[in-house]
Amino acid sequence: MYRVHGDKVIRRRTNYREENDIQKYTKILKEDFGNMCGYCGKDFNIIKCPYQKDHLIPEDIAKKVGRLDLLTDYNNLVYTCRVCNRNKWNNWPFDNVDKIHDDKVGFVDPATDEFDEHMMRDETGRIVPKTQVGNYMYKIFNFSNRLTEVWWKLSVISKEINEIDSILEKEETVDGLKQYWRLHRQFDSFIESLKKANESI
Ligand SMILES: [Zn+2]
Repeated sequence: MYRVHGDKVIRRRTNYREENDIQKYTKILKEDFGNMCGYCGKDFNIIKCPYQKDHLIPEDIAKKVGRLDLLTDYNNLVYTCRVCNRNKWNNWPFDNVDKIHDDKVGFVDPATDEFDEHMMRDETGRIVPKTQVGNYMYKIFNFSNRLTEVWWKLSVISKEINEIDSILEKEETVDGLKQYWRLHRQFDSFIESLKKANESI
């Protein structure tokens, strides 16, 4: 089993200047999330696609209960891919903002330790739920119909290639060749999973 975010530990900084325009948070949010989608772990350093800012507690419910501070609260922002942001949209299972989940439904902040308790990746890199709340999120983000393991494998392979490059740059070593063969096998299994998924990416 792997973490949804791989090696990256996502944490929002506590020392920042408060802004009234969330666009001004783009730079620090990107840094704090390691340029990765908080929900599906898509790595924008490798996969060039648009990123967005999601309100963990959606704007609609925040307005409804008069918590306008949540609209520009840095701690309420999640760096996301467009697909996750669109799927989450205004989904909110409560009529208040007192909690973000009740152990059955709701969301978990990806910038906390708790996220790993609810969502993981299986040995193929596919995102799987671990709890009821995890299952709620799994459905909201439509992970059962998404190629979560393909993006994961792309990140793994890309990192491996960089490592092998730097090893082989110095000299052709046994370590480098071993890594190359491991990469080759990963690439084969990646192609297999693409065939199975029968979808273009
Ligand atoms: Zn995503």
